[in-house]
Amino acid sequence: MSKIVSAIANTITSLGMVIFVLLMTVVTMLFVGHGLYYQVFVKCMSPWQADMAAWILSCGIETTVLVITANVKYFSSKQLPIFFAICSGFIVLFFIDAFNTTQPILDIAVRWFIGAMVCGLNYVYSELFVKKFNDELQATDMIKQIETLKQENEEYNRTISLIKSELSVAKEDSVKLLNQLVELEEFKRREIEKVTCKCGQVFTSIYKLAAHKATCSSNPNKGQKVSAFDDVPSNRIRVMK
Ligand SMILES: [Zn+2]
Repeated sequence: MSKIVSAIANTITSLGMVIFVLLMTVVTMLFVGHGLYYQVFVKCMSPWQADMAAWILSCGIETTVLVITANVKYFSSKQLPIFFAICSGFIVLFFIDAFNTTQPILDIAVRWFIGAMVCGLNYVYSELFVKKFNDELQATDMIKQIETLKQENEEYNRTISLIKSELSVAKEDSVKLLNQLVELEEFKRREIEKVTCKCGQVFTSIYKLAAHKATCSSNPNKGQKVSAFDDVPSNRIRVMK
């Protein structure tokens, strides 16, 4: 039920409905204008000429009014819709003989009311059409902008995903490098320890260390002949053998 109500509301408030009502008043004014012009032209033309001229003039005037109304934003003066609305009101007033003062006052009032109503309707709908049309253009522009922003957002997301994956790979590489560095540091520490005397001196080879130990005060076996192979790890000795 709510869908039907909203569909009706959308139809009533749509640009299409405004155009439909505007066209109804234009078509009505075609007949009214023709009737008025015919009354004038027939006094100086043959009936068929007056009839044809009245139709052509009525169509020309109403088309002009419609085109001007639709393109009023291109004119410097915003009073054109008011001018044409007043003109259409007077066309109706002349056509329905509203200026004939011999009629009862009530008849004259009714005719003037119809003229004023047509005048007001023409003005209101011409204004409404222009504003509604501009709203539709803005809405279309906004939809295009939203689509563009969505596409840009998708591209940004793809770029961010790519950067995240690259960052993850770089993080794994850095962890591997750090582990290798720790292993290298440990290896370096062990190698230095092998050529370091108890007194703290570091030598470039185990042979120089062995030579130093023979005279080192920190060595409890100082003075004894020391083999250079004493400081070589047993596994290395086995390999050498
Ligand atoms: Zn020493």
